[in-house]
Amino acid sequence: MNLVGASRAELATLLHDLDPRPYRVAQVYQWLTRRLAGSLDEMTNLPKALRESLADRSVIRDPEALEVRRGGEGTAKFAFAYPDGAVVEAVAMPMEGHTTLCLSSQAGCAVGCVFCVTGILGAGRNLTGGEIFGQYRVIMRQEGLVGAPVNVVFMGMGEPLLNLPGITRAVELLAETVSPRRITVSTAGIVPGLAKLAALERRPKLAVSLNATTQEQRERLMPIAARWPLEDLLAALRAFPLERGRRITFEYVMLAGINDSLDDARRLPRLLRGIPCKVNLIPLNPDEQYLAGLAAPDEATISAFAGVLAAAHMNVTVRWSKGRDVAAACGQLRGQVIRERAAP
Ligand code: SF4
Repeated sequence: MNLVGASRAELATLLHDLDPRPYRVAQVYQWLTRRLAGSLDEMTNLPKALRESLADRSVIRDPEALEVRRGGEGTAKFAFAYPDGAVVEAVAMPMEGHTTLCLSSQAGCAVGCVFCVTGILGAGRNLTGGEIFGQYRVIMRQEGLVGAPVNVVFMGMGEPLLNLPGITRAVELLAETVSPRRITVSTAGIVPGLAKLAALERRPKLAVSLNATTQEQRERLMPIAARWPLEDLLAALRAFPLERGRRITFEYVMLAGINDSLDDARRLPRLLRGIPCKVNLIPLNPDEQYLAGLAAPDEATISAFAGVLAAAHMNVTVRWSKGRDVAAACGQLRGQVIRERAAP
């Protein structure tokens, strides 16, 4: 049994004939989820005999960091491998007063957004909650962040709402040290998944990858929109229970000549009317190999677009990519790592 990702109940079962006292279960759980122990030997408040018995029955296995690329602004991008060969990405981005970690929920993505390298590379399996949490554990330890304030966003590879069991367990494990207010789940708009997310007792924050202002345009950019139309998505978001003071973040990847017109900018506030929200404009991170023919608009176009939203009293920010030099857009580092591994 891999202890990374184990729930309290699973640990209680494991410890049942070794030392079933509740405080022992709590101690082991804390070592794994709070202190992010990498080995049983680190659990110094457990008797040695207990650690040895646990070692006979279990392991602590995190994903292997195949590669870490560092960018000029302190951004660190990780390529992680799991024992079955699945490779995913995760990123640590230093911000003011905290670090934001972007984690992956699937080893690929079937959603197929045309502006995303992960989508172009195709579907991959769901990660378990422990495998997702393992990305967090390795980054926190390797970057010296244990105990430091972090935000976690599920905006890496995969569609989190197509892996709700994995995400739910990961959020439960993270919640030992990261408040759900500091965790954001980003979806391409899986309408049935929104209802399930809404039903969670400790709900993370919600972000929606919108990228279009008409159904037709959205279907062209995000094939999944044909299954869950914009109208249904917006209705589900209007019904989504938001805690006091919370807002939904709408991400809008800006693509030159495709979704960056002033008409788009004028339609957006009308579309989102009545939803407490903010809009994040994200100029495309280009990739000549996988995203040929797509480009980010120039700065003047982006500013004009943002200006229209601001004039309509929307809360808008432009997210200039941190760490282009480390292949920061979703799927780009994995694409490179896979290419390099495949090369003779
Ligand atoms: S943007 Fe997100 S949902 Fe779309 S293909 Fe990429 S990983 Fe999947």
